[in-house]
Amino acid sequence: MSRADRLADLVEERELDLLLVTNVVNVRYLTGFTGSNALAVVGRDVRRFITDFRYVEQAAQQVEGFEREQGPQDFLGALTDGWPPGELRLGFEDDHVSVRRHQRFREVIPDRIALEPAGGLVESLRVVKEPGEIQRIAAAAALADEVYGVLREQGLVRVLERDVALVLEDEMRRRGAEPAFDSIVASSERGALPHAEPADVPIAAGTLVTLDIGARLDGYCSDCTRTWATGELPDDLAEAYALVLRAQEAGLAAVRPGPEGREIDAVAREIIEAAGHGEHFGHGLGHGVGMEVHEAPRLARTAEAALAAGNVVTVEPGVYLPGRGGVRIEDLVVVTEDGHRVLSGTTKELVTVH
Ligand code: ZN
Ligand code: ZN
Repeated sequence: MSRADRLADLVEERELDLLLVTNVVNVRYLTGFTGSNALAVVGRDVRRFITDFRYVEQAAQQVEGFEREQGPQDFLGALTDGWPPGELRLGFEDDHVSVRRHQRFREVIPDRIALEPAGGLVESLRVVKEPGEIQRIAAAAALADEVYGVLREQGLVRVLERDVALVLEDEMRRRGAEPAFDSIVASSERGALPHAEPADVPIAAGTLVTLDIGARLDGYCSDCTRTWATGELPDDLAEAYALVLRAQEAGLAAVRPGPEGREIDAVAREIIEAAGHGEHFGHGLGHGVGMEVHEAPRLARTAEAALAAGNVVTVEPGVYLPGRGGVRIEDLVVVTEDGHRVLSGTTKELVTVH
């Protein structure tokens, strides 16, 4: 069954006639279109794809299984007509539609069609990856491993954090990918900030450096954090590393179909709490990765969705010691029928890079 067919089933289950898909990532997922401006309408017997004049050629090459239309100059004006007859219930992606755009929908779409909030339907398909999607994510993860290998050869000490980030991103681009998010390079006390921006500061010897990178390749993302030493570590940082590694491996070992996201989170969190560092682990254990670098399902204290085969998630506990430094170790992992398979290949043993 095609993705659009499966979506049509969900649309019916929600007692809708049609879904208006405007999130461009969801449009790509359903239609294969990689441009930046398009929408789709999906229902039992409806497969409409609308783009603007710039993308007509591209759509002809990429989009299959949909009726392709070129919208007018203002694009959404195409929604004035082309609808099945009668009163209809049209779902829209309320988690992605601005108030202004919603007003525009109401202006152009005939009054006999009711607009119903229905965000998350396409995302609920995206959460279970097909084998071809897992291959792409694995390729993006392998590419990030190569980039880490290059950096390990080049070294870290006395290099500006910002220059390390440039190397990481340049190496991704050389391999045909682009950064899925701004790379994190956080050394010494900046490592205690989970989302530190790379600073114009040289990396010192004898400390920790947290590196968090993701590649986007062929529409799919990877996400991998490693924390490296730049020499002999003070005891508190060495202990923090050993603790985070233990928590990470325990969380990873719990990943399989069945448990809720919060249960996996708890496995790692309890280890960090038992060591007295609960207050130093302020974020969730992980998140889904796919066409977007943060998507469902989440592994967090409040995440109730159960893991299922085909989910791809990160497992990334951290311990952040204010004024001292931080450790985060993040693997990308696919949930399989009988457990999981780790996609990140870079070693998690504490490595020293001078
Ligand atoms: Zn990350
Ligand atoms: Zn992550």
